[in-house]
Amino acid sequence: MTRYVLEPAAQVTLPVRGTDKLFPVRRIYCIGRNYADHAIEMGGDPDKEPPFFFQKNSQNVDISGEFPYPKHSSDVHFEMEMVVALKSGGADIAEASALDHVYGYGLGLDMTRRDLQGQAKKTGRPWEIGKAFERSAPMSALVPVSELGHLNQGRIALEVNGEIRQEGDLNQMVWKVPEMISYLSRFYDIATGDLIMSGTPAGVGPIQRGDVMVGSIERLGSFTVKVA
Ligand code: MN
Repeated sequence: MTRYVLEPAAQVTLPVRGTDKLFPVRRIYCIGRNYADHAIEMGGDPDKEPPFFFQKNSQNVDISGEFPYPKHSSDVHFEMEMVVALKSGGADIAEASALDHVYGYGLGLDMTRRDLQGQAKKTGRPWEIGKAFERSAPMSALVPVSELGHLNQGRIALEVNGEIRQEGDLNQMVWKVPEMISYLSRFYDIATGDLIMSGTPAGVGPIQRGDVMVGSIERLGSFTVKVA
């Protein structure tokens, strides 16, 4: 007999490519300014800054292939990113063993209400209103490490309406995947089901209703998200 006083929300999941299995999502950690050329375009200095993270909510994940233009913004940007999915976690994880915690990789978009994020930055307020809104994390199915190995290089790109808007290489990440896992685990108990959005290369920009975004990462393939 359940002791819940209300029906609990359903577990958020991501599909695993080529199977009928589901990956249960817990937290979503997102790194800021993790490709040098993007850090520069956002006004930062990639050489001097330690990594910083913000979070989205697991309920922001969306696998429908459709992104409804959100409320309260007229400057919504795409940020194409590789998603790292963790099968286990802990605290104070060493870089040398960090990759042992990775279940697999996927494609994701860190959709951003840039105008609201900009206001938050200016006033020293939290970023959630610009980053952690409904359906702000469109994602693909995951591909397990057992199939693909680890991804530390390869082209990452985003096309909008057939035009290349973002292009880079995973090897341009300022903070590599093992470093991000190790760093996060010093500040948080990271755990099974956690996702890391690993940052975006240069070229971020606005989308309009009707746009079709196609994100791709070498060896992972591509995914398509339409702006509704
Ligand atoms: Mn991002």
